[in-house]
Amino acid sequence: MRQSKLFGKTRKDIKNDEKSINAELLTKAGFVEKQMAGVYSYLPLGLKTYRKIEQVIREEMNKIGGQEVLLPALQTKELWEQTGRWQELEPIMYQFKDHHGTEVGLGTTHEEVITDIVKKNISSYKDLPLALYQIQNKFRDEKRAKSGLLRGREFIMKDLYSFHTSEEDLDAYYKIAHDAYLKIFSRLGLQAFSVEASGGAMSENNSHEFMVKTDAGEDLTIFCESCSWAQNSEITKLKDGDQCPDCKKTLKIAKTVEAGNIFRLYTKYSKDMELKFTDQAGKQQLVLMGCYGIGLGRIMGTVVEASHDENGIIWTKNTTPYQVHLLNLTKDTKADKLYEDLEAEGIEVLYDDRDLSFGKKIKDADLIGICLQVIISDKEDLEVTDRQTGEKQFIKIQDLQDLVKNYYN
Ligand SMILES: [Zn+2]
Repeated sequence: MRQSKLFGKTRKDIKNDEKSINAELLTKAGFVEKQMAGVYSYLPLGLKTYRKIEQVIREEMNKIGGQEVLLPALQTKELWEQTGRWQELEPIMYQFKDHHGTEVGLGTTHEEVITDIVKKNISSYKDLPLALYQIQNKFRDEKRAKSGLLRGREFIMKDLYSFHTSEEDLDAYYKIAHDAYLKIFSRLGLQAFSVEASGGAMSENNSHEFMVKTDAGEDLTIFCESCSWAQNSEITKLKDGDQCPDCKKTLKIAKTVEAGNIFRLYTKYSKDMELKFTDQAGKQQLVLMGCYGIGLGRIMGTVVEASHDENGIIWTKNTTPYQVHLLNLTKDTKADKLYEDLEAEGIEVLYDDRDLSFGKKIKDADLIGICLQVIISDKEDLEVTDRQTGEKQFIKIQDLQDLVKNYYN
């Protein structure tokens, strides 16, 4: 992509109403544009990063047997009344009458819709287990939408729902989904730990939250750096400096953002909505369910909160909008040629072909935060800077492709 043609410009100042680092940097760097509190548009750069996050999540969901569906955001009141949640969620749900006088709502979540669909499509134990997921917009009438992409009123989520004939099968899948979540965070370059919601052993718990360490965090998590032990500070008696119950090393406390959560729902929804299957003995039984959520915009905001410096964003390898930011400082046509060669090799390049000073180009490159900055000038060698470590190296033009491929491998 030629930066001279890129829609969405970097800017020095934004209106003073962005209180969070993620929204400030993402807006200044031209990734998002705010429409109102908690509602953002993704510009081309932002959508590139969003698609990368989506891709990692989709791959990991497919690996654990998830089948992708797309459910409606607009939902009838009648469905929500079956579980009593039309009233229960009224304070945060957008609910209104359409022009025909029908009461409808915008989905804050999709348990009712998915349970209804599965009910229409399964009948026997042979149809189970089943795992369905979607990546879709959700709506929540937040009173305090001040955290940029971390707390939206319209936001994109991946939600997976699993359906089982027995508690053992639900437990086994819950563990698999738990591990897939840790894999997603690790691939996205985020340090995450899972926190038990009630403080007992994993098998005794109905839900887990996935916490990412960042100063913007609204929660406090006590964690062990040596093993994977972690708990929400509100539910544990342990404190900073105490001994880890598992490995006896010293526990630490950190501000964290909740970036995902998973729940064993058991028969909560299948009971209310009569989602049943016929077992091997021909008896009708309630289906057991699990649900597994992760916010995509929230992850994007969390990466920015966890990984930036005074000059701008520092994307991780699987979230960088482009693999290479090529800064042209020469009038020679060799820069155009290098750009075209890299693109032909399938390397994603943002090519700063604008007629600007080096100072302005490098400032923009630091703000945008692409992992590899490559400077091409009248000198023979290319200068390659790793945005994460700040390390510079000088290499021959013909060695760049290998360097990029090795870096992202
Ligand atoms: Zn430990």
